[in-house]
Order: sequence, then C-alpha cells, then structure tokens
Amino acid sequence: MSIFAVDFGGTRIKVGIVHDGEVLAHDAIAHKHGASLAESMPRVKELCQAMLAAMVGDPQPEAMVCALPCIVSPDRSRVTRTFGKYDDAPDFDLDAWTQAEMGIPCLLENDARAAAIGEWKCGAGRGVENLAMITLGTGIGTAVICEGRPLFGTHGVAGNLCGHNTVSMDGRECICGLRGCVEAHAATWALPGIARESELFADSSLSSAEVIDYRTVFAEAAQNDQLACELRDNAIDCWSTLVMNLIYQYDPECVVLGGGIMAGKDVILPAIRSRLDKRMPELHRDTKILAAELGDAAALAGGWSVWKSRTAL
Ligand SMILES: [Zn+2]
Repeated sequence: MSIFAVDFGGTRIKVGIVHDGEVLAHDAIAHKHGASLAESMPRVKELCQAMLAAMVGDPQPEAMVCALPCIVSPDRSRVTRTFGKYDDAPDFDLDAWTQAEMGIPCLLENDARAAAIGEWKCGAGRGVENLAMITLGTGIGTAVICEGRPLFGTHGVAGNLCGHNTVSMDGRECICGLRGCVEAHAATWALPGIARESELFADSSLSSAEVIDYRTVFAEAAQNDQLACELRDNAIDCWSTLVMNLIYQYDPECVVLGGGIMAGKDVILPAIRSRLDKRMPELHRDTKILAAELGDAAALAGGWSVWKSRTAL
C-alpha cells in the first residue's frame, strides 16, 4: 500500500511516496512565507506527479496524508486553528481538492503528531506503547502516544501544544499571546531577540554572526563565549523542564527529541539526562531520552501510519 505524504513546513513543503512504511522517494519545494494552501496545492500536485514518473515500478498511491503546522480535528478531516501559517486551511477542503484533482482521498494530521507517529512506528520509539516527542526548531512542537494510541483529546490538542507550557510567569512575550512559554525562551524564532537584549551581546562573538541560531550558539559556546554559554545553558534548562513536564503528565517509556536543533544532540542529550537525574524521583529515572532517527522523513513515515490506521478500521 502506497500513499503520498506531504509535510507543510514553514520554509519547505516536503513530499514523499511511502510504501508499507518505507519512504521510497522524497523531495521538497520552497514555501514562500505567507503562501496559502490554495496556492501551494497545485505545486504539490506537480511534484507528486514528477516523483511518480521518476519511480521504477508503479506504486500507485491510493491516498494523500497532509501534515500541517495547525490544529487538526480528531477525525483528521479538517483544520480547526492556524498559527500564522497556511491561514486559509480551515476553509480549504483538502479532501475535495485531492479527489477532484488527483482522484484520491486526503487525511490531515498535525505535523508534530505525524512526526511522533513516524518515530513511534518506524524510528527511535519502535516497540513502545507510551512515547512523547518534542520537535526543537523554529518553534517547539510536541505530541504524545499513550497506551498505543496517538493522543487527541476533545479538540485535538492533547499533548500537542506543550511548547506553550509556561516556564516563567512573567517571562518573555510569546507568539501565542501568553508570556513565559518554553517557545518564547528556547525556540529558534526567539533566540536572536534574547541574544540582542543581553548586556553581554556587544562583547560576544554572536554580535558578528551572520545568523544567530542554536548551531551558532553551540559552536561559540564550545569556544567559551560567555553569552553563548549562557544561552545554551538556559535553553537546555527550558528543554529539560519541558521533558520533565511531559514525563509527569504522560508517564512515557521514552521521550524522543527531534528537529533541527538536535544537530547538537551530543551536547543536549547528556545535559538533559543529568538535569533529570538530579531532579526527577527515582520512579521516572528509567525514562529514556532519545534522539529522533528519521529526520525530515518522520512526518512522511507517520503519514503512512495515519492512512493505514484509517483503512484498518
Ligand atoms: Zn506561547
């Protein structure tokens, strides 16, 4: 059984042809900031057709599964809330579009949950019944698999918006309208602002960096730049707090960390582990903290499982 899986990111739209859980081919197109789903879908269709034409054999995808950076209804049929990306999604009937344009049905999934399902079925979380995943990148996404099922809750947000867990009541302003969210203190979008506000900025090597992201911060911290060390340690404190909160809330067997920031996993994983070992009660000390294995392909592989679970009903 094959499907097209599409992961609508903030800067790229990734498309895969997935057969029995294996991503046979994947490619991406650039996403112009602010471009709508209506503008993007014809380009997605074009890429799907080009990829299919280049395949050896004929996998004949029978559906499309779209992972979106939006809240998706628990029946996976529609988007119920957006966050400044693909804002036409609640009014755009993706299933009707794919049926009319490509002759196949379409299911939707939140992108963080799709990645968690991918890692659970095909990646770092294979074989467990309880898993939490955190995607560390431009934003911070979370999703939870509980007792062998992806968690949705009443509105499709259970375990899903923990990047907006509060770490400081009077902390930094967040894009969600609240203050002190994990994202506002330790996501890439917030990092340049945090760095520039520091009194250490003028004397820091970060002041001459072309891009201030966590890759740069980790590299400069390794050279003992004082501000970079502070930013790295504060971020690891925030991510550790989020991991601890997820462990307390959902009691997972493992917490899988993915996303671009995890390029620094050799520093991040042991630092989180040591914070947990100091603070968590003994009961939770066997919770594994793992790096994601599938990278960009996680949400695509997760899309295949989403379709499979639907057809198995
Ligand atoms: Zn927030």
